[in-house]
Amino acid sequence: MPELPEVETVRRGLSPVLDGRVIARAQVNRPDLRWPFPEGMADRLTGARVIRLGRRSKYLLADLSTGETLIWHLGMSGRVLISGQILGEYVHAHPAPEKHDHVVLDIEGGARITFNDPRRFGAMDLIATDRLETHRLLAGLGPEPLGNAFDEPYLVARLRGRMTPIKAALLDQHVVAGLGNIYVCEALHRAGISPKRQAGRIAAPRAASLVPVIRDVLAEAIEAGGSSLRDYRQTDGELGYFQHAFRAYGRAGAPCPTSGCCGTIGRIVQSGRSTFYCPQCQR
Ligand SMILES: [Zn+2]
Repeated sequence: MPELPEVETVRRGLSPVLDGRVIARAQVNRPDLRWPFPEGMADRLTGARVIRLGRRSKYLLADLSTGETLIWHLGMSGRVLISGQILGEYVHAHPAPEKHDHVVLDIEGGARITFNDPRRFGAMDLIATDRLETHRLLAGLGPEPLGNAFDEPYLVARLRGRMTPIKAALLDQHVVAGLGNIYVCEALHRAGISPKRQAGRIAAPRAASLVPVIRDVLAEAIEAGGSSLRDYRQTDGELGYFQHAFRAYGRAGAPCPTSGCCGTIGRIVQSGRSTFYCPQCQR
């Protein structure tokens, strides 16, 4: 499942192809993905200029010259391919159409963006840009973890009185937008806070310490994504979900990497999802 850093990496890969460019032709090959596409989506996209490709939480947002914004969620298995554009000294020929190529955007100048999503958990929708924040996928989202509104006093206040485990509180998209299982595990490990600890019972200074840790974990992953972007240009044009070295996530049984800690990373299940943490140094 792509989380915020992966979506941001895809955004950075797509931005040079889309920003300021006209969608010469949009081809929509089925009526729906996770939800039905908006009525006449291909026609509404064709001829529109992309003013800016942004991101909110795990959603790509393309503001269009038509006054609408395209909301795009990559889903679980979505792949984005760029072809036909000169990328450095390489040119990726348009690939042969594949079975799960659901949306194909031909951009003025010759680039093609193909969205392939075998499991169809992805989504696209269109809404008037001035009503964007009222869209059901975006309404009520908490602040961006890398934005200014997400600061120490805010997080301390939001956790106060909460009876849920801290892991569940950080996964709550109303508290902070875009954090998922992987980066919550990583942030709690780095902060030395047990994922089982009741959110409201964490002392304010420790709760506050999560803010810079969350920012660091995400910023490092975005940086790693930037390196993978430089690589993709030399492979097949796919904006893949890069491999990133995690300290806790997916490392059950491995020695804890925290310096001075002799613990072993363990795995528990919380709300039906795996939590990786070190019982030794996360209290
Ligand atoms: Zn440890």
